Amino acid sequence: MPNRGLVLAYHSANVTGTDYASNDHMALTADLRTIAASGWRLCPLSELVEHCLSVNADNERLVAITCDDGISLDYHDFDHPAHGMQPSFRRILNEFADERPDLDLQLSCFVIASPDAREQLDRKDFLSLGLWPDQWWASANSIGMLQIENHSWDHNHPSVDPTAQRHQRKGRFEPIDDFEQCEAELAQAQDYIAAVSGRRPRYFAYPWGQSSEYLRTEYLPREASRLGLEAAFGCDLGLVTADSDRWMLPRAVCGEHWRSAAQLQRMFEQMNR
Ligand SMILES: [Zn+2]
Repeated sequence: MPNRGLVLAYHSANVTGTDYASNDHMALTADLRTIAASGWRLCPLSELVEHCLSVNADNERLVAITCDDGISLDYHDFDHPAHGMQPSFRRILNEFADERPDLDLQLSCFVIASPDAREQLDRKDFLSLGLWPDQWWASANSIGMLQIENHSWDHNHPSVDPTAQRHQRKGRFEPIDDFEQCEAELAQAQDYIAAVSGRRPRYFAYPWGQSSEYLRTEYLPREASRLGLEAAFGCDLGLVTADSDRWMLPRAVCGEHWRSAAQLQRMFEQMNR
């Protein structure tokens, strides 16, 4: 059998309650146990990409964990005003690592680069709770369990004004469809994240999993090595295999592709076939 990899995505901002379905911190805590029991091997995202895009048929089944948007709950615990103390994703991984030192627990954090975009998102969408700093990126990269990756300059997010989109067509990522806008969203973010975090990102995650054909089939294949990027992820359910498009790798999203521990377990069973 060819190697195959399942990439899972979480959002530490998803805290609207205290159960699995309403809280990605609860979901991740439960899912680590499901993954450990699945027979699939946890590994860093880089290892999954390298092994699964190769044509080797070593019958490896790999899982990598990612999270998007880069709010500080990835790294710092947070006393939520409505839902109480939330353990950071880092703490959840650390505590599970104490329980299971045999596992290689790694988390790739796709962050929004622009300080101005993060400031606006914090103020307009997160009650000015100060959840979107970048001071934690360098320490995250230095502890050997987290890697800071690229989730674009400003997400072309409707709450950010202005975004890099020339005509301010926001709320989707397909309008980033020419060289200049791709440079603003990807290259600028690469440089900023490298400068602040001390490490150049190797992977890009499309905001909302969306991409223009130009970005996916022209800009990235041509410019990626200059930028230091090796692959890009969408939000489609599927397995990374030697047949996958390096610039649109599948990634399953918690809350969208599965909503309970039982559903994740079923996903593994289906993908074992
Ligand atoms: Zn996002």
